[in-house]
Amino acid sequence: MQLGAMQDWSLRVTRFIDHAAREHGGREIVSRWADGSESRTTWAGIRHDAMRMAQKLAKLGIKPGDRVATLAMNHHRHLVTWYGAVGVGGVLHTINPRLFDEQLDYIANHAEDRVMLFDAAFAPIVERMKPRWKTIEHYVCFDSSDPAEHFEDWIATEDGKGEWADGDERDPCMLCYTSGTTGNPKGVLYEHRSTVLHAMTAMTPQVFGMDCRTVALPIVPMFHAASWGLPWAGAAAGAKFVYSAVNEASVLCELMEREKVTTSAGVPTVWLSLLQHIDAQGKDIPADLHTVVCGGSAMPRAMIQRFMKAGRRVAHAWGMTETSPIGTTGTETSNWDELSFDEQVTIKAMQGRVPFGVELRCVDLDDYSKVLPRDGKSSGALQVRGPWVVGRYFKAENPATDADNWFDTGDVAVLHPDGTLQLTDRTKDVIKSGGEWISSVELENAAIGFPGVAEAAAIGVYHPRWDERPLLVVVKKPGADVCPDALREYLGTHVAKWWLPDAVAFVDEIPHTGTGKISKKDLRDQFRDWQWSA
Ligand code: AMP
Repeated sequence: MQLGAMQDWSLRVTRFIDHAAREHGGREIVSRWADGSESRTTWAGIRHDAMRMAQKLAKLGIKPGDRVATLAMNHHRHLVTWYGAVGVGGVLHTINPRLFDEQLDYIANHAEDRVMLFDAAFAPIVERMKPRWKTIEHYVCFDSSDPAEHFEDWIATEDGKGEWADGDERDPCMLCYTSGTTGNPKGVLYEHRSTVLHAMTAMTPQVFGMDCRTVALPIVPMFHAASWGLPWAGAAAGAKFVYSAVNEASVLCELMEREKVTTSAGVPTVWLSLLQHIDAQGKDIPADLHTVVCGGSAMPRAMIQRFMKAGRRVAHAWGMTETSPIGTTGTETSNWDELSFDEQVTIKAMQGRVPFGVELRCVDLDDYSKVLPRDGKSSGALQVRGPWVVGRYFKAENPATDADNWFDTGDVAVLHPDGTLQLTDRTKDVIKSGGEWISSVELENAAIGFPGVAEAAAIGVYHPRWDERPLLVVVKKPGADVCPDALREYLGTHVAKWWLPDAVAFVDEIPHTGTGKISKKDLRDQFRDWQWSA
């Protein structure tokens, strides 16, 4: 059959920066650095620098498909790198500096990164990891105190008059690893096309509601799940960006007030500290902030109430690294104005509904071939599919989905008749604390090595500040005495300090499934009302 007769205009992410520079060239990008200094540039400036960076990378022999890594917080040079890396046809690989050495080692080697751009604050990580990172040929510091090693000097040799690498819209443009999984982190390789489609959705009122009047302060780090797509969507919208290299509430608040920030996005833990700061200072929520996007973990009801009472629009988002990450957002329903305030809050406290482009279903936990009804009661394994959902993990041999493209999220949920998603549990054996993943299996394996421990299970229990914290449930060997502090100290020699369980609970027996595995679901039910001591 003959194809349609419209123009060939490949959906490549470099289109965003061209558009932003051409149509919104004077719109500002503000960066507040950790030392308190600030830089101001514009979308036109970002494009010029990104082009210089692409030219530089080309001179270094970086070819289409090569990975360019970053280890950095939020600032305009990081934004330049997003566009510079893809501009040469490369794949931007943002690395989470909060991961520990084994993960950092695995990820950079698995990705075969060739260039690493980093913040001076992470220079100790770079120094430590250099001997282990086998494929990295070039290191560039974004804010080095030595001008010869500084990012600005590194790109200063180029004139910014080149052209972006061209290619297929299904070429890869970005790589993010997720550690929200047992075993080694897994890489999700986003495409130009998937990223463009995702960004166009991110701009819609249902998600960030961005246009050229938006002033966005992305609290979500640029290394977390593609920064929720904001660097792409913001360019498409011509929004002003305000970046902070630190996530301190006082700094964020001051920037929001001074720069008249309208829209911000982050995990509940950060929003909580922002509200606490506001209360402690006797301040109000920043006046211009009208859209509060919160996701990555469940947004607490009290927080939703607080923002809604203050007349702010709340978008409670669910998504994953594997879904680029937008999956659902808690938006207003068609009968919104007929609902009571409490009913509205209840809707926002759920994870929301899909935008066009995302499909959801729940299947029976014991029989995945059985699709559950959307009845607001049947709880099952949540599956997702769509053009910006992972098809196959980076370098994996097998697809990440079933034959019909359904990706199993590892979340357990109920779908309501109107399509609203409500998460109820998780099948994946990981704990999410302040937006970062902790492996329960690694905690358990380490705990088993402690004298007197017969069996151990780590579960995530609700925590008012971190959303979840690990609780270690232990069965002692007969007659043994186990000191919780000594056990924690021992664990500290095996896992990162922030992974350490906040408490140890001793039980006579840990529940098991029919196949003999620890039943985390039963255990989580058992400790659902656990109170952390002050
Ligand atoms: P990540 O890939 O690190 O972004 O983590 C994705 C996972 O975080 C999801 O599969 C959920 O388990 C969890 N998550 C994300 N958003 C929410 C939310 N709004 N409420 C509850 N859990 C969430």
